Amino acid sequence: MSADLTELYQQVILDHNRRPRNRGKLPTANRVAHGDNPTCGDQCSVYLRVAPAATGGPDRIAEISFDGSGCAISQASASLMTTQVKGKTADEVAALYKEFHEIVTTGKSPEEISDLAAFAGVHAFPARIKCATLGWHAAIEAFKSDPVAAPTTTETHLD
Ligand code: ZN
Repeated sequence: MSADLTELYQQVILDHNRRPRNRGKLPTANRVAHGDNPTCGDQCSVYLRVAPAATGGPDRIAEISFDGSGCAISQASASLMTTQVKGKTADEVAALYKEFHEIVTTGKSPEEISDLAAFAGVHAFPARIKCATLGWHAAIEAFKSDPVAAPTTTETHLD
C-alpha cells in the first residue's frame, strides 16, 4: 500500500470518529442488539429497521443506527459499518463482514479499494480486532434477532 493510501485510510477512520454516521437510537427500529468488548471497554448497540424491498424478495436493512462508547477504532468501525450494510440482505451483510474480517485479520486489502480497507492496519494489533468487529457482530446479531417494538427515545443524532 502506498503512503498516500495509508494516509487516506487513516483519514477515513479519523473522519468517522469525529463525525460518526447514523449515531443515536433509531425510533423506527424493529431489531436491536448490543455488543460489548470487555477487554477494551467498548460498547455498541445497533438498531435496525428490517423490511422487504419494495420489489419484494428477502428482508433488507432499510434503516440503521448505532450507539455506543469506547475506543476510536470501535466507534469509527461501527460508524463505517452502518454506511456499508444499509439496503443489504442478511446474506449480503455476512459476505461483507467476511471481507472485513479478512482485512482486519490479514491486512490484505480487497482488489476493489473500499473504505473498509481503512482498517487493514488493525491486523498488526490482534487485541484490537475485537474493537473493529464489535459493531459488525452487533449488526449481524440484530438482524437475526426477534422483532421488537421501536425503542422509545427522543435521542436522535442521525445524519
Ligand atoms: Zn476498543
